[in-house]
Amino acid sequence: MTNYDVIIIGGGPAGISALIWCHSLGLRAILLEQAAELGGQMLQMFHRVLDYPGLIAENGRELRDHFVAHIDELQLDYRTACKIEEVNLSERRALCDSQWLQARAIIIATGARKRRLGIPGEDEFEVRGVSFSATRDHSLYAGKKVCVIGGGDSAVQNSLILASVCPSVTLIHRSDRFRAREDWLKQAQENPRITIITNAEAKVIEGGDHVERLIIEDTRTRETKTIETEGVFIRIGVTPNTELFRGQIELDEAGYIKTDQRRRASAEMIYAAGDVCRPASLSVATAVGHGAIAAKDIAIIMQE
Ligand code: NAP
Repeated sequence: MTNYDVIIIGGGPAGISALIWCHSLGLRAILLEQAAELGGQMLQMFHRVLDYPGLIAENGRELRDHFVAHIDELQLDYRTACKIEEVNLSERRALCDSQWLQARAIIIATGARKRRLGIPGEDEFEVRGVSFSATRDHSLYAGKKVCVIGGGDSAVQNSLILASVCPSVTLIHRSDRFRAREDWLKQAQENPRITIITNAEAKVIEGGDHVERLIIEDTRTRETKTIETEGVFIRIGVTPNTELFRGQIELDEAGYIKTDQRRRASAEMIYAAGDVCRPASLSVATAVGHGAIAAKDIAIIMQE
């Protein structure tokens, strides 16, 4: 059994920040990331990052590179491709690569992942017409007819991005109440290239080598309709990565970890930072702040 002050689970901005802050506060910490590389959702940010103080980056990967260079410079302890097989939060232990790691505190920073529709064709046509990011892929669809699914900021923003290069964008939302910002929605409603279909659910994505059709169903009449399309962009929000912790700490109705302002979860010396605990604002800056708050609180408690 290897002992640490803090085990940090998850290598996105919240986890990396927590690792740096643990080091600054004299805590012996290790960060465990199940993916092959650090970065979390930063690796899915394909736009220029202009809102992270002190660092303008061409995209999230470049920002991530700065974060990793920072922890490498400080020679901090982290493992990638490290799948946690089991975690016992009340004992503050994690089983990783057949080895139990023990700590006095755990910071959960496992983030969130893009929600998927779970309909036929979604997996089959990924990268062949199904996309989860217009920022990254819009140029591949220039001149083509596309659909976007969702009713939040991401779906409406994706529709506006696509309308700048595509002659026809159909935005499909399952209800008639949008979560998206009023000004973006207004821009979409006024854009002659964008058609908005409400009260409709995507049912099947079909095609040959590439996507050719999307079948939707009216939620009120149950009538189905086929839309000829070469691209389906799915932007229906995110879901937290909390499956590993279910039953061990309190989660809210959507599966996010419940915390107080000091990032403390419902079990003793268990903290959660970043998107895994439904922050008021989803951003790298917020995640970084959460990581710092959690580490600081642990240091204060351990000094008492
Ligand atoms: P969101 O705000 O959670 O909206 C998700 C949308 O997808 C909702 O309209 C929801 O419908 C719909 N939806 C959920 N599950 C669905 C399903 N299974 N089938 C069909 N539709 C489904 O997610 P988001 O738009 O990705 O935004 C996430 C966060 O990022 C928000 O806080 C947003 O403000 C932020 N964001 C900010 C910016 C920016 O400021 N630059 C850009 C993008 C996103 P219902 O409403 O019916 O539940």
